[in-house]
Amino acid sequence: MKLAASYFGNRIPRHVARDMAELRARGFDRVVHTFSESDAAYYHKTMREIVRISQDCGLEVLLDPWGVGRVFGGEAYSQWLLEEPDLFQRGPSGRLLGGSCLNHPALLPRLHAWIDAAAGTGASWIFWDEPHWTFPGPLNPGSEICVCDHCRRRMSELTPGTDLARAGREEIARLRARGVRDLLEELTRYAAAQGLRSSLCLLPHGLMDQPPLDWDEIAAWEHVHEFGTDPYWQAFGVATPEERRAFLKVHAGEAMRTCRQAGIPAMLWVQAFKIPAAREEDLVAGARELLRYAPETVALWGFEACAHMSAIACERPESVWNALIRVFREEAPDGAR
Ligand SMILES: [Zn+2]
Repeated sequence: MKLAASYFGNRIPRHVARDMAELRARGFDRVVHTFSESDAAYYHKTMREIVRISQDCGLEVLLDPWGVGRVFGGEAYSQWLLEEPDLFQRGPSGRLLGGSCLNHPALLPRLHAWIDAAAGTGASWIFWDEPHWTFPGPLNPGSEICVCDHCRRRMSELTPGTDLARAGREEIARLRARGVRDLLEELTRYAAAQGLRSSLCLLPHGLMDQPPLDWDEIAAWEHVHEFGTDPYWQAFGVATPEERRAFLKVHAGEAMRTCRQAGIPAMLWVQAFKIPAAREEDLVAGARELLRYAPETVALWGFEACAHMSAIACERPESVWNALIRVFREEAPDGAR
């Protein structure tokens, strides 16, 4: 079993070099470097150096479109939405919903350019991180959905004669699922043409008001080389050990079944952010349970349990980081290492 961690918040190569050496020494095999719009615009050569440093340490590098277009997961802002406000999702109230519309035709050329930039760093993988429609929350307090002209047109293509304003729940869910699906299909195809492999991380089913995606269909695409999910039971409000086991069984279990069927490796994520001290025991117990699903890669979000990023740091990051490495490296049965 390979071990991965995400890494972000530092673009000073000599400090990155020390951290990558530390990751390798602790038994990590892969690193997910975030590659935000800001990184692509202002740190491109620096990122090339960071990728090389990581590879020289023996780490396989995946790049994450962190917050890009506000369509992928991550604590990064989007310049694209400022440059081209028409990209915004628009709710029925007229409110701009805080992320690009997945059906907007101007989004794709920008994402192609992002992939070109990613290919130029020398990384071998793209890690497509939680592609989503804007979540309910501060940017979308009314849990609105996009009803822009592009979404309306797409609805009438998918379900002729149906007006999005009067569509039923199932038709809307189908439209939104197609938006994510079609975007990912094109992005993985384009990435492959640039020599990049694609690892997909889809949100666990039924969370964050997202439409249902057909994992089996997506994982079987020619240009999807790894598939997984991030069953962060604490972040998603799972409180008891029984619920945790059930949550992992549904989401980790389903991802593993999907990967086995598609014949591709699985990557499952473990929450190493925002863990309160009182819940470290629960985290470790769940990490041991996750190990039993035997994914090809277990990945920790993120480096040193996010000690350096106050908004998402664990309460006792050093304790969390060491405990997870103990579970996945020191305690793991030989066959899993
Ligand atoms: Zn739209």
